[in-house]
Formats: sequence, C-alpha cells, structure tokens
Amino acid sequence: MFIARKQNFKPFDRKVWLSSPTMHGEELEYVREAYETNWMSTVGKNIDELERLVAEKVGTKQAVALSCGTAALHLAVKLAGLEPGEPVFCSDLTFNATVNPVVYEQGVPVFIDTEYDTWNMCPRALEKAFELYPDCRLVIYAHLYGTPAKIDEIERICKKHNATIIEDAAESLGASYKGEQTGRFGDYNALSFNGNKIITGSSGGMLLTDEVAAANRARKWSTQAREAAPWYQHEELGYNYRMSNVIAGIVRGQMLHLEEHIAAKKMIYERYREGLKGLPVSMNPFDRQNSVPNYWLSCLLIEPEAMCPQVRDDHKALFKPEPGKSCPTEILETLASYNAEGRPVWKPMHQQPLYRNNGFITREGEGRCRTNAYIAGRTLGSDGTPLDIGSDLFARGLCLPSDNKMTEAEQEQILAIIRACFE
Ligand SMILES: *Cc1c(COP(=O)(O)O)cnc(C)c1O
Repeated sequence: MFIARKQNFKPFDRKVWLSSPTMHGEELEYVREAYETNWMSTVGKNIDELERLVAEKVGTKQAVALSCGTAALHLAVKLAGLEPGEPVFCSDLTFNATVNPVVYEQGVPVFIDTEYDTWNMCPRALEKAFELYPDCRLVIYAHLYGTPAKIDEIERICKKHNATIIEDAAESLGASYKGEQTGRFGDYNALSFNGNKIITGSSGGMLLTDEVAAANRARKWSTQAREAAPWYQHEELGYNYRMSNVIAGIVRGQMLHLEEHIAAKKMIYERYREGLKGLPVSMNPFDRQNSVPNYWLSCLLIEPEAMCPQVRDDHKALFKPEPGKSCPTEILETLASYNAEGRPVWKPMHQQPLYRNNGFITREGEGRCRTNAYIAGRTLGSDGTPLDIGSDLFARGLCLPSDNKMTEAEQEQILAIIRACFE
C-alpha cells in the first residue's frame, strides 16, 4: 500500500467514519415504549406515527414503513407493473439497490448515463434512450449523495413518453427541489433508514406515494399478502417486508433531528469547499438556483490534469505517485492509513460484471462497456467532452469522511492529508 509522501500527522485515535449513526436519546424512549407496551411486532404506534410524520415532512399522501429501502424499491417496481423482459431506464451511477428490484420483477435495466451538474441521470441521455426504446414505460432515478437530480427535465421527458417514475430518495431525505421535498416527485418513491443514511433506524425503509390504493396494496404485499379472512388466505404473492415497531421507534426519534443532521452535514461540506480551495479539485456540485441538498456525503472530484496514473481491475486498484498530482486510490489509501474512512464514488452499474451485458445509453446513443482504466473513462463525444460520464466520475471522484460527529480539528487534519497527497 502506498501512503502519502509527506506525513507528519498522527493517526486519528478514534476512527473518522464516512457516515455513522448519530443517536440522541429520544430513539430509546420510543423503543422503550414499544417494549413496555409489548408492541414488539410489525404493528404499533411507532409505525403509525412514523408513517404520519414522514408523509407530512415529504408531502405525500401516503407512506408505508418497510424493512429496508430495497424493499420499498421492490414494491414500487411491482406497483409499476412489469412484463417479463421489459426494459426499465435506471440511473447508472448509483447503489445497486436502485436497480436490482427491476430484476426481481423480471424487468431488464437499461442504464442511463450521468451528467456533471448534479452527478445524476442525464436528461439528454434519457431522451436518447426513449428514441432507442420508445416503448419503455418505467424510469427509476436516484438523487445521489443527497443532491437532487434535474427533476423538471426528467419529468418532462417521462411525461412525453407516458412513463411511470420511481424516485430513489434513499440518500436524499430532507433535500428539496424548487421548494418541494425529494421523494414526492415520482409516482412511487423510496426512502432508506439504513445505518449510514442521514437518519437511521439501524435498518428500515419507506414507500411514498399519493395513491391510496397503491399504498394499501404495498402494505398488503409487505405482510405476506394476507387476505381479509378468518384464516390465512392468500390470493397473490406476498413478502415479509413490513418495518418492525422497534425500528420505527428509532426512526421516529431520529425524525426529531433530521434538520440538525442536515445542518451538520452542510457545515462539513462548506468546510471542505473552503479548505480545498487552491487544490486542483472540486466538490460534488448541485443546482444552487433550484435545489437544496441534504449534503449527506461530501465528495471530491480531481481535475483531469491533476490525476496521476491509476488503474482498477474488478477487485484492486494501483496508482503511480507523481509530484503535484494524485488520484482517488492514493487519497483513500492515505486517509485509511490515518484511520479515516472515505470511499470511491459508486461504480457505474454498466461496469458491474452483473450488468455488463445490459444496455447503456449516453447522450449520443448506445454506449459500450468501458474498461476501468482512467483513460477509458475519458472517451470523448462529438462535442469534445467525455462520453460515459459515470465512468469519468468513478475514475476521478471519491466520497470524503462526512460523519456528523467529526470535529473541526479532525476535518482540518483530513484536509491537510489531502493537501499532502498533491505535494
Ligand atoms: C441505501 C440505498 C438504497 C437501499 O436502501 P436499504 O435500506 O439499504 O435497502 C437504495 N438506493 C440508494 C441510492 C441507496 O443509497
């Protein structure tokens, strides 16, 4: 493992995490209430209250509490209704949980390339995809790292083609676009309360929609699709996807602190932005005019000219240090050597061995799977800028330690370590 050429720093005594749970106390009170009233089950007051609170916060008519965000996405895809083999347009630069539920339902994900302005689904590539697959009826897009996508443009295109929209707001609870919360723009939307999200129940997720009938179907599917009968009567396939009342108690307590968490994350983002000035890097961008992110993770993107050589195969990465230059691998390995956790940007779905044979659409049409070498991410389009923007972001980008509980001094040291990587 290479480490920074200049290192006069002391490793952190306490690990600085990418994003770890931050508890406050009220969580335990709601859990205790569940325990003491013996609602240790998938029904109870915490679930009802949490559904009410989240629907009110996001602004949807219905919220269905589920075991995880992936379950929410699965039921959302099921509500959209797929024929076997049907193509579904999906964000390419995202966590695989955005996409896998399409396959659970026998659909075929077709990946839509990313844009540089928000690191989300590229509307031009989406438009192109509808030219190639005019019959596509479902689009699933995420708001990466808590930054709202180009929602208006995506909606306009989907409307024109009569496509149902699923918003994966797992990372973006509390972020807004033109004054409205993410998680209320799609027909069916998903939230996650996984351990590293902006608020957490240790696990958990939620399906959001304005359609009462859809919410009721999802509730039924999530409890093994029991029919109203004195015995266990089953007329369709069900799942065990309902949230536990204990988990709901934790999330209910966390809801009281959502805005506080966002403020802490914003502070972290702003400190990085300030502290990285003068280096050949930029932060994960957002549309300052129309959107307010929840700043879940602060990310860094290295300018192409400041990249030292870096190659990645399916499991390992190598780089060659060069004066004045660095790369995500060097920065991440150096941070790790000081006991701080960062992470590469999501590896694009079209580069995943699982999905390498699926369609991948860039703004200029059908793309091909590129290798992971840095240079390949910079295949240029007819306008002279990279095609396969997801691969370019994967090559040059990384997620910085963004934990709520990181102190200012710890963050200063992280900044100094990053600076040393560019010496
Ligand atoms: C975390 C996450 C999910 C899945 O949520 P789980 O609760 O872990 O199942 C889905 N999509 C994205 C983009 C995520 O980051």
